[in-house]
Amino acid sequence: MAGLGACTLGIGLALLGLSPSTQAESLSLQEIAPGVQVHQGAHQLPDTHNRGEIANIGFIAGERCVAVIDSGGSPEQGLALKRRIEASTRVPICYVINTHVHPDHIYGNLAFKSAGVRFVGHHKLGQAMAMRAPYYTERAPSQLGFQLSLEHFVPPDLPVTETLDLDLGGRTLHLTAHPTAHTDNDLSILDRKTGTLWLGDLLFMGHVPVVDGSLNGWLAEIRKLRAVEAQRVVPGHGPVVAAWPLALTGEENYLKMLQAEIRVAIKEGKTIDQAMNELGRSAKPDWQLFDEFHKRNIATGFAELEWEDD
Ligand SMILES: [Zn+2]
Repeated sequence: MAGLGACTLGIGLALLGLSPSTQAESLSLQEIAPGVQVHQGAHQLPDTHNRGEIANIGFIAGERCVAVIDSGGSPEQGLALKRRIEASTRVPICYVINTHVHPDHIYGNLAFKSAGVRFVGHHKLGQAMAMRAPYYTERAPSQLGFQLSLEHFVPPDLPVTETLDLDLGGRTLHLTAHPTAHTDNDLSILDRKTGTLWLGDLLFMGHVPVVDGSLNGWLAEIRKLRAVEAQRVVPGHGPVVAAWPLALTGEENYLKMLQAEIRVAIKEGKTIDQAMNELGRSAKPDWQLFDEFHKRNIATGFAELEWEDD
């Protein structure tokens, strides 16, 4: 019956032009450092109820303008975030930064498209969007409950090849384009003013890490990230803020375990199916959505590590 109630409510909100979960006033934001606001996503698989609105998203405000960091998992969530920003500050939005290509981080982009707004992403983000857009668009109605068109995939017009500093007025954001790790288009943001490091899905907490790029590459990036001087970190999935660099420990341990166990399995001549069914089961209590992603991580890691030299 609870489901029927939620459904009825959803229809009512739809008639008002609002989605069930993203009325502008209900998009909660927490100020985790001066001028840094984060909305927390839930640890759920994307579905028609949550409409894919599952990632941490938010914005950083300077004296001159605002940078959005990840636009949300649906067009409506993007619009809701835009309305919250407009209600909270008089300075305009000048940048929309996408941390990577996954739908929960980019589907709100179109809401922000207007003169004066630059879209910023890893130099490989545009290509990744173009490659995935047809499949993502086809899948959205059944998986997420809304229609998408190719225009929702707003690519970066300010691509980052290595690093880029964005001046928001009184604060500078230092952007870094990473080698292949979670994906092949991960971008991180360091707000130098407050020492806040925004990692997107380079950091998972609570939600099991998802390897859609390179297991070895991700571990190498984690080692480099440890040297970044920051006061706090915003993960792509997890709490809105966490201690730095302590927050990396759980993810790093999981990925190291995966790497070590896959290497042993390959040496022992196990098949990918055996590996998927046997490896890393002891990590299950530590992570949410373990059953949904762990086997896929083994398959991705196995395919990568099979070709390593001994
Ligand atoms: Zn992701």
